[in-house]
Formats: sequence, C-alpha cells, structure tokens
Amino acid sequence: MDIYLDANATTPVLPQAQAAALAVMAEVYGNPSSLHGSGLKARALLDEVRTTARRVIGAEGGELFFTSGATEGIQTAVLSALTELRRRRAAGDGRALSLLYGATEHKAVAEALKHWNAVLALDLPIQAIPVGPDGRHDLRWLREHAPQAGLVCTMAANNETGVISDLDGIAAALAGSPALWLVDGVQALGKLPLKLVERRIDYAPFSGHKLYAPKGVGLLYVRDGAPFTPLQAGGGQEGALRAGTENMPGIAALGAVLRALADGETFCDAATLARHRERLATALREAFPGIVFNAPAALALPTTLNFSVPGLSSKLLLDLFDAAGLRVSGGSACSAAAARPSHVLEAMGLPDWQTRAAVRLSFGPADGAGLIEEACDRIGACGASLRESCLSASAPGAGGAQTPVLTRFVVAGACCYIVADAASRRCVVIDPLPELTARIVQWVGCRGFTVAAVLDTHSHGDHASSAQALRAALAPSLLETHAGDALGWPDGASALVLGRHRLTRLAVPGHTADSTAYLLKDAEGACFAFVGDTVMPGALGRSDFAQSAPLSFADSLRRLQDAVGPRALLLPGHDYDDHFACTLASERLLQPLLAGALDAVLHAEAFAAAKADLERHVPPTACQTMACGTSVGARASLASVELDGAQLDAMLAGPLAPLVVDVRESYEQRVGALTVLERGALRSADIRQVPLSALLDALPDWLALPAQRPLLFVCRAGNRSAQAARALRRLGHAQAWSLQGGLALWPQPD
Ligand code: PLP
Repeated sequence: MDIYLDANATTPVLPQAQAAALAVMAEVYGNPSSLHGSGLKARALLDEVRTTARRVIGAEGGELFFTSGATEGIQTAVLSALTELRRRRAAGDGRALSLLYGATEHKAVAEALKHWNAVLALDLPIQAIPVGPDGRHDLRWLREHAPQAGLVCTMAANNETGVISDLDGIAAALAGSPALWLVDGVQALGKLPLKLVERRIDYAPFSGHKLYAPKGVGLLYVRDGAPFTPLQAGGGQEGALRAGTENMPGIAALGAVLRALADGETFCDAATLARHRERLATALREAFPGIVFNAPAALALPTTLNFSVPGLSSKLLLDLFDAAGLRVSGGSACSAAAARPSHVLEAMGLPDWQTRAAVRLSFGPADGAGLIEEACDRIGACGASLRESCLSASAPGAGGAQTPVLTRFVVAGACCYIVADAASRRCVVIDPLPELTARIVQWVGCRGFTVAAVLDTHSHGDHASSAQALRAALAPSLLETHAGDALGWPDGASALVLGRHRLTRLAVPGHTADSTAYLLKDAEGACFAFVGDTVMPGALGRSDFAQSAPLSFADSLRRLQDAVGPRALLLPGHDYDDHFACTLASERLLQPLLAGALDAVLHAEAFAAAKADLERHVPPTACQTMACGTSVGARASLASVELDGAQLDAMLAGPLAPLVVDVRESYEQRVGALTVLERGALRSADIRQVPLSALLDALPDWLALPAQRPLLFVCRAGNRSAQAARALRRLGHAQAWSLQGGLALWPQPD
C-alpha cells in the first residue's frame, strides 16, 4: 500500500468529492449559462459552492470566481495589477513603482511578474523581498520599500517548508503604500483563517487540488474596488470576470470538500495535526541520527516537515522512501525533476548541503492516525536499512552483510572505487575524492574492514589528493600501512592480495608522468584495470599539463593493451556519461587516435603532435580534478533502450527468457523487495538483484552471455536501469533493455 506524504504537491480526491463530480457529470450536466431547467440546476450548484467558499476563505465581500487553478489566478491578479500600473503611468504618474515578491514565493508568482512586465512593456523593477532564517519576510526591508512598490506578492504559507507568513505584519508594513497586495492562499486553504477582507488583501488565488479536490479547479478572490482585467474574454461567464464554460464536475467536487471542512469528521483539527507531525518528526529523528529540520515547527503548518540528513542526498532518501512505498518529495514537485537546490531554502540562507539534501514530507488534514503510524513504521524500516547498508551511523562491524568486490562512487563525473574481499575483511580504495572521505570512513568502519592501501592513479597538479585526508580520518587500527610511495603503493609490495584477487600496478605515463594503472586479476586471469585518466569512455586524458608526459602516452597505451588485452574492462577516473567501463576494443572504434597508438601507426612524436592538436582548442579544464580528458565526441548511442509493454510481451514470447536485473541499491531492495512481476512468463523469469553501485562486479558475466539473451534492467523510475542498459550496449551486448517508466508503472502484487 502506498503511504502518500506529498500533500503539498497535490492530494488524492476525497470520496465525497469524487461522488459529487460523478453526480454532476451524470445528472447536473447543464450549462450554467443556459436558461432552461438543466442550466438552472447547474447555476444553482455554482452559486451554492461559491457561497460556501466565501464562508471558508473569509471573503464576505469582493468578487470570487472559479478558475482552472492557482497559476491562472496568479496570472489574472498580476495582469490586473500591472494593467492598473500602466494606466497610472499613462495618467502622468512618473514613479517607476517596483514589483515585490517574497523570495520564497512559488515559481508561478515570480514568473508571472516577469512575463506580464515584459508583455505589457512596463519594464518595472522586480525585487525579491528577503526572508530570515526562519523563512519569514523581512518586514523592515518591506517597510522601507513599500512606499515605492506598485504590487506586493506574499504567500500565506510556503509549499516547501510550511512556514506561515506574518500577514498582519505585512499588512502593517504596507500601510500607506500605493501597492496592490496579492496573497497566494494555496497552502492555507482550509488550514488557516485568512481574513481577506479585514486585511485589505486585493487578490488571493486558491487551488482545489491541494485540498482533496481534483486538478483543474481553483478560485480567485478580488477585493471590492481592486483593479481588474480579465485574462480570458468570451461568453461572459463568471460575470465576465473569467470567460469559458465552467468546470462543473471540478466545482462540484470542490464544493464537497469545502462542505467537509465544516462537518467536523473528515478533517483533523489543528491539535491532532500537530500531534501527527510530532509523531513523524520523532520517527525521523530515530531513523536518521543527525537529521536537521529546515523550518521552525512553531511557525509552520502542522502538516509539513522539511528536513535534511547529513551525508545523505535527497535523491538517495527519495529512492529509499519510494521503495518503502512512502511518497515524499525533494523540495517542491515542480523543481523536483530538475534536481536543483531549493530556492526557498537558499533564500533562508541555509547551508549549501542542507538546501541540496532537503526532503519534504507533507500530509493532509484528512490523514488519520493509522496512516501516520504506518508511515512511522516504514520510516523506522528505512533507517534500519540504511544502517545495514552502512550509510547511517551504526555499530562498528555491524553492517554491510553483502559487500561486492567492486564498489564505485561517482561525484560530479569523478569516480572512486573500493576493491574489497569480504572473507578477509580487507579493501583497497582507489582515487579517493574529498567529498567521499566521511562516507568511506563509514563504509570501512561499519563493515569492520581494514584498508590495505589508499591509491591514486596519478598526482594532481591543481589540488592535493584526498588520500592523505582519508588516511588521517581512518582510525589507525583500520589502516594497514602508512609507508608508501607518492601514489600510496605500500613500500616493498609487488602485489596486493585481496582474497582470490591480486592487484598489481603498471606505469602508464602520459596524462601525467606518474600515471599508473592498477590491474585486478582473479585466479582465472579475468582482469579489471583501474586506468585513471589514461583512457576514459570517449576520451583520452589530457597531455598538455605541466605534469604531462605526452611523448610517453602512445607507448603507455600499447603497454596497457599488452598487459590486459583488448577486452579487459577499463575502469576510468572520470565517467561523465555513465558508461561505467570501457575496453580498448570498444574505444579504438570511437577514438582514431587510440587506434593509431595501439596499432603502432602513430609513434611517440606523431601521437603527441596529434593529441596536442586536439587539445589546442580545448579550454583549460574547469573540473575539480585535472582529468576531464579530451573528448572526441564519442557519446552514447541514442538508440532507445526502453521497452514498452508490447515489446516486453514480444520478448517474453521469444526463444530466450530475459535475465531481469533489479538495479536499485540494496537499501531500497531491503525495504521494498521486488517479488514477482505480474506479466506472463516474467513471473518465473530469473530475477537478480545487482545494485547500480555494484554493477561492475556483474559485467564480466553479463558480457559472456549469448548475444541473443535479453538483459532487462529495472529500477524505480527507469533512469538507472536505462543507464545500465546503455552501458551494456556500449560494451557490446546489444540485447540490453530497460523497463520504460520503471517499476513505478508496473503492476505489483499487494
Ligand atoms: N502557489 C503555491 C504556494 C503552490 O504550492 C502551488 C502549487 O504547486 C501553486 C501556487 C500553483 O497552483 P496550481 O497547481 O493550482 O496552478
């Protein structure tokens, strides 16, 4: 069962609202503008809902009309206000009045101001009203700017943090100002008394779908005497304020919700909601030690919690919660897809990590105690799962039951690897990154491993390696040796033995004079090579740095091929396009320079000259390490890897059953196991669990499958599975697929 905790994005439709909408579609289908009986019935319903709405939002006077939602209401209000400012200007008012909006306002407001300011060619200054660390408007700033303001937009409550604005304080700051005042009431509807008339608010938009009505219906309140310009002209509906035949099913549903607010049964009272929030906050604190809440509870709607957990990205938490059937969001729903840090938390001046890692949990006033308890149980399970995966504080040696041989971490395209032997509890870290120090310390300590070496594949010109910082951060008992060369190779060791694997090194000067490849071989001779920036998918490392050895580069590439062969999996220091690995055989087809070097067509000087030519027009790298490479434009094939239902059925009817691979991380798999996929032969298909972070381990086996054996990757939303499928195709397995839309769209048994 889904536990939906994203009510600030939208809500399900109340059963009585669904019934009201269906009844209107079946019975009250007349056009409220028609004068016959059917039309009159519809008109009566429209008037009744409007009267109820006036009571609920405290709009005894003024105009109140139905819209398609808050975005339309905001456009109408902004158009009305700006048209009035244009009229004042034409009448000789020379002041360039500014347009002010709260820095934490919903995007619809800031964008509407920009849009209509441009369309009406007003060119008025637009300024954000700063907010304090508590998310509330800076009233002193507002008082100073109010005399020059033409329009002020402030929300009643924030959609990301739930912070409730001090509307009385704002009203006082605006006393005597020529400004019109828009209050976005979306998140306050049914939750806060707005006293629209008393506070002299000029415009207030509302949205039905944030309070259990369907999408596509909203309201706009306009104060008596406030300037008004319709956004839509036409048949004169809604007193000619908003032309277009009314959305009667939506309006009827909204009416049912508004009536339910007064029935004393459907919605919880404020004290109960506050108890629910406290229960959830306690569960979150227990599950995620170190959690910080991003807004003061005392100033926020009791239905919203916005939090960040140190060391855990919002993407990780969203994947984890989603796997547990808890639907939460990162920041606002509109910006969630873009994965940008929240502008709301940025405006509050919160530290960068907090704004990037933020998660919003919002429930609705109709959610009962049972749902909250179930949510708390699942939150607890999420915390336990992270501890087992060593991603959250846990006792030393307590977690990481299944540790793959190869784990990779990626930070902004830069790759770090851990090679581990679970039996002897030893590991080697290759190319540590500063952002990962704390995470790796946790990774090692929680598993009770020791670190045999921390290795770099090359030294960096522009910054120190973080290997030293990692060694210093590891408890001395966890680090086997401190004595090693500049890249960390232990003094006197010819090989590092990790269970059945041996790690040796090979000098490959070129990108830098000290570039080194580390070769990992098992008893059968299967080989992975950690090649740093020497060869990357679609690129060779730069050769134009002070530390580079361009004349040695071609020879190093040949030496690498001699040592590992053309099909060994090369694990690069950078992987910007999520290819995971490459081989010399695959790269030579994409990189003529590499082919030239491997075939000894290009000798040292010719290779160096051709490489220099390639790099001449490439700006100095702005990347955090000096790798980046000189891409030769060998991007991933654009052929779709996505399989829709019909294609899947065809695959299932084919001669070879697919190997289904769940690439969600183990902490997700643990809280939401993928039991069976309900589709014909897939029920019995072979389903494996291989987290994307451990994909490298499985690559050799998959690449050895018969060419026609389909590999079908699945994950939550279809992005990670598509990455895996593309990587496999690039490495030569053409029958690699991803389930379109991911598991989210897949019927699963309850
Ligand atoms: N204002 C706020 C505060 C919101 O939360 C939203 C919805 O995300 C909107 C405006 C836009 O509302 P609608 O989806 O009805 O256009």
